[in-house]
Amino acid sequence: MNLGERSIDSIRADLLARKYSARELALEALAYAQAENPKTNAYLTFSPERALAAALEVDKKIFAGEELGPLAGVPIAIKDVIVTRDVRTTCGSKLLEHYIPPYDATAIQRIENAGGVIIGKTNCDEFAMGSSNENSAFGPVRNPIAPDRVPGGSSGGSAAAVAQGTAVLALGSDTGGSIRQPASFCGVTGVTPTYGRVSRYGLTAFASSLDHIGPFAKSVRDCAALLQVIAGRDEMDATSAFAPVPDYTAALGGGIRGMKIGLPREFFENLESETGDLIHAAVDVLKKLGCEVRDIRLPHTPYAIATYYIIATAEASSNLARYDGVRYTTRSKSARTLSEMYRLTRDEGFGAECKRRIMLGTYVLSAGYYDAYYLKAQKVRSLIARDYAEAFEQVDAIAGPVSPFPAFRLGEKVNDPVAMYLSDIFTITGDLAGIPCMSVPCGATRLGLPVGLQILTRHFDEISMFRVADAYQRASN
Ligand code: GLN
Repeated sequence: MNLGERSIDSIRADLLARKYSARELALEALAYAQAENPKTNAYLTFSPERALAAALEVDKKIFAGEELGPLAGVPIAIKDVIVTRDVRTTCGSKLLEHYIPPYDATAIQRIENAGGVIIGKTNCDEFAMGSSNENSAFGPVRNPIAPDRVPGGSSGGSAAAVAQGTAVLALGSDTGGSIRQPASFCGVTGVTPTYGRVSRYGLTAFASSLDHIGPFAKSVRDCAALLQVIAGRDEMDATSAFAPVPDYTAALGGGIRGMKIGLPREFFENLESETGDLIHAAVDVLKKLGCEVRDIRLPHTPYAIATYYIIATAEASSNLARYDGVRYTTRSKSARTLSEMYRLTRDEGFGAECKRRIMLGTYVLSAGYYDAYYLKAQKVRSLIARDYAEAFEQVDAIAGPVSPFPAFRLGEKVNDPVAMYLSDIFTITGDLAGIPCMSVPCGATRLGLPVGLQILTRHFDEISMFRVADAYQRASN
C-alpha cells in the first residue's frame, strides 16, 4: 500500500472505523516498502517482527476499547544511526555491518510507547557525514522524484521513504543540515528541533554538540505530532532540556497575521536562480498571510562552513575512536598484533569521508593547533549564535532557502568534497546556534525538482516555527 496520502489522523480514523487492523496496515506497508526499495535503496534493513509486535499491541487496545497512543498504527522509518534493540544498526558503515544493538534509543522507546510501528532502518551517509547519501557503504539512495539524482544527505533514506510513500513518518538526524536538506531535495517536510529538545540517547554520536534527532513527514502537522512524542527531558542524556514540551499540534491551524519574518541578506545574496524565484514566491505567500517582512543581517554567515568543519570534525575524531575492533565492529581478519588490529580494522572499515574527517579533526585538536583552529572556531560559533539572538530581537521567525540548489546528479559532486561542503551554507548556522529550524516544500523547478523553504525561530520556540510553516503549507496547497 502506498502511504503517500496517509496521515497520522487518517490512519487513526481508519483503525477506529475498523477499515483495516494495525496488523494489516503493517503487513501492507512492509510489502510495499520491500517491493519499492530496489528503486531507491532507501532501506538497509526491514524490521517485520518488531513492526508486527507493535501493531498487535495497537490492535489489542482497539479490541479492548482502550485509549490509543498518539502514533497508533503509523508506519515509521528510522535513520540507521539511531539504535534499535535486536534490529541491525549500521550507521551506513561497513564497520557496523553486523552490529545488533542491545538497547533502544529513547526516541525509539517513546515512538513505540505511543503506538508507532517501526518498519525499518534507512540508508544514510556513513556516520551521518555527507550531503548526498553517496558516502553510505551500502550504495547511494536515489531520489524518488528523479532517480538519477541524489536525495540529499545524510538522512537521504528517511526523506526518500516518506517521499516514496513507504512510510508516513521517519526519523532523521541533523548535525549540519542532514534533515532539512534531504527534506527539501525530496519534497517533504523535515524538522531540526532546538538542541536538547530531543534526547540523543541512542543516537550514534557524530558531533555531539551539534547532533539532533528530528522528524520527517509529508505535513507540518505530522512532524509536529511526532516531535511531541519524542521531545522532552531524558535522564539518559544530560544535554536533554528540562523545558516543558508544549502542545505543538494544538497551536496549529490558525493565522499568522502580524508575525514579523526576517529575511537574512546573507541568505538571499547570489540567489538568482529558480530556487531563488521559488523562495521569493514563498515569501510573497507569507506576506499575503499578513506577515510583516523585514530585511535582517546575519553577518557571520560567511564563516559558518569553516567553523562547522572544524568543530564537527574535531568532535567526530573523538567520537569515532571507539570503532577499533574491540567492541561493536567487524574486526580485521588479517591483523596479527593488537596495534595492527586497531589500525587494519579502521583502515578497512571506514570510508574515505570518515577518514578525511578523522584526520582533519585530529589535526585541529592537536597541541600546536588547538588555539589556532578549534578554539577560534568555538569563538566564531558564539558570534554566529549572537547574530541570531540579535535578529530575534527584531523578528519572530527567519525565512530563507534550505539549499542554494535543488537535488544534483548522482556523482556530480562526489570527487569535490569542498563543493559538497559548500552546499550546506544555509543549514549549518542553525545547528551552530542550536535553534529550531525546518524545511517546508515550496514548489518545484521546471525540471520538477522540489525546493524547500527554511524557517528558523528562537530556542525552544518550535511553536512559532510550526505555525508559520503550517499556515504556509495550508495556503500553498
Ligand atoms: N552535510 C553535513 C556534513 O557532511 C551535515 C551532515 C549532518 O547534518 N549529519 O557534515
